Amino acid sequence: IDAALADLVASRVLDVPDFPKPGIVFKDLMPLFADGDVFRQVIDGIVAYHGRESFDVVAGIEARGFVLAAAIAYATGVGVVPVRKAGKLPRATHAVSYDLEYGQATLEVHTDAFAGGQRVLVVDDVLATGGTAAATLDLVERAGGTVAGLSVLMELGFLPGRERLAGRPVHALLTVQ
Ligand code: AMP
Repeated sequence: IDAALADLVASRVLDVPDFPKPGIVFKDLMPLFADGDVFRQVIDGIVAYHGRESFDVVAGIEARGFVLAAAIAYATGVGVVPVRKAGKLPRATHAVSYDLEYGQATLEVHTDAFAGGQRVLVVDDVLATGGTAAATLDLVERAGGTVAGLSVLMELGFLPGRERLAGRPVHALLTVQ
């Protein structure tokens, strides 16, 4: 099943050279999102990997993580919390700034997002340098949650994402070299 899911992801990604900057190969997973059958299998695969009982809420990282988080939440009957870029959330937030493969960024989450020690499944499309995911896991804990797991569709194995997330529960459906 794991190999089948990896093949599905591999079959629905487009490599876009020099986007958004020269030297970056952008992994465009829009074809996967756009294919209803594949999207459903991928969502079900992520849920099966973690187990429905292992998390209380799903956090999606802006913006492609929102798509995955909403589908997982609907499939399992839990709620969604958005982890957003700076300045988008209307109430008090925790913020973490970090470097990423192509620039710098700040992510925020509402301070009361995970009140009561909720177990949080974090999802995004691509794990590259790991800065985004590391910042998000810190935000989850600052906002009172515990990290139940992190799933990405694709991991760029030639970047140090996993090292940066050492000790964290990182799950990738497909790792590319
Ligand atoms: P990083 O913080 O370096 O792990 O970057 C991860 C975040 O940036 C994720 O939200 C990805 O959607 C996006 N990202 C970084 N590199 C790429 C890439 N080569 N292709 C597609 N998305 C990427």
